[in-house]
Amino acid sequence: MVRLTENKHYSEDKPIEELPNPPKVYLPLIQHLGKVCNPLVKIGDSVIFGQKIADIEANVYAPIHASISGKVIAIQNWPHPVLGRAKAIVIESDARVNQPGFSLKSRQEIDKLTAQSLREIILNAGIVGMGGASFPTHIKLNPPKPLETLIVNGAECEPYLTSDARLMVEKTVEISLGIELVARCLGIKNVYIGIEDNKPEAIKAFSKSSGIKVKVLKSDYPQGGEKQLIQNILGKEIPRGKLPFDIGVLVQNVATIYAVYEAAYKGKPLIERVVTVTGSCLSNPKNLLVPIGTPIRNLIEFCSPLKEMPAKIIIGGPMMGIAQYTQDVPIIKSSGGILLMNEKEAKVLDEDPCIRCAACVRGCPVGLMPCQINLASERELWNLTKEYGATDCIECGICNYVCPSNRRLLETIKRAKLESVK
Ligand code: SF4
Ligand code: SF4
Repeated sequence: MVRLTENKHYSEDKPIEELPNPPKVYLPLIQHLGKVCNPLVKIGDSVIFGQKIADIEANVYAPIHASISGKVIAIQNWPHPVLGRAKAIVIESDARVNQPGFSLKSRQEIDKLTAQSLREIILNAGIVGMGGASFPTHIKLNPPKPLETLIVNGAECEPYLTSDARLMVEKTVEISLGIELVARCLGIKNVYIGIEDNKPEAIKAFSKSSGIKVKVLKSDYPQGGEKQLIQNILGKEIPRGKLPFDIGVLVQNVATIYAVYEAAYKGKPLIERVVTVTGSCLSNPKNLLVPIGTPIRNLIEFCSPLKEMPAKIIIGGPMMGIAQYTQDVPIIKSSGGILLMNEKEAKVLDEDPCIRCAACVRGCPVGLMPCQINLASERELWNLTKEYGATDCIECGICNYVCPSNRRLLETIKRAKLESVK
């Protein structure tokens, strides 16, 4: 693991603000790992806030809901933050103040929920892993083996991002209720929340919660990776090719748990999320509660004026985020931040030959040899990249960061991962 410059000071003290409804939202039919949804609406239809507008029957999927009230004006290809372009439902706002008809559940109704009924609520709410993975949560909560431990991931180890930290401080009670519900329904006895030591307010807030053990973690990157969290909290290693449930552990990000709370207690689907809008180019970095599908242009304008023109805009953090080619791209369920970098910060240095220093090997948190995978990948030796364990790469970007020769190791490792599933 490595210690990175955190740069969280831009937004860590900024309370969550609600972004006014945008004139239009663009809701991609794929915002999760799994099958693309089919639209349930057509052009000209009126929709209301929270209405299910896309769904599919498949093994792995999550439905999509309208994040504003208005009229469907198009179903078309549109920029997508992960896939480049994808089909999206475009809703034009009717400027109605959102009037959710969501039904609040009583304590007795909550107490009666079973694992199966909770999974149905989560599926119907379209909840996916909001820490970036986008894996449908109802499937993660249906493991083939019993679970003993729940680890709530409040590490937020990526530099600049502060949306999870603000959520933990401002929604402690709600997150605690969500944790308690998941643990009870799945019969989990041991519950931890892992928080880095650079978030003292969040640590203090959760220290008062009963039944949840707070584990204070070093602010090292990538502390929030599932394998690293399990290792640092439980001292257990996940064997190569296995998943956390194989050793009886469930890891859930804090924002996902908050979405579970909103769905179970308030009947509210996943239609909004907290997004950090940050970077040296902005005069007013903020943490914003945003309707899913809002173009990032609206968020950037809300944090303007710009101090300087950004040379690069990333959705996510600087280590694992994805650079965007247009501000038309919308926020999706997994978008936790927008980072605006100036020319100096965004400068891409020339690549030099590998000097065999092994800095990438020492830095890799999962024990890979990035330099070797890189060489094999450049020669398209896919059997060799597989043998070197390319599929275990968690795409943290440390190898790129530490390489003195500026080798694009991660890019070639990502290609090797894709080739291994062909
Ligand atoms: S090989 Fe993968 S896991 Fe290892 S440092 Fe590089 S990006 Fe991270
Ligand atoms: S860090 Fe860069 S230069 Fe050093 S061994 Fe790895 S790839 Fe080669």
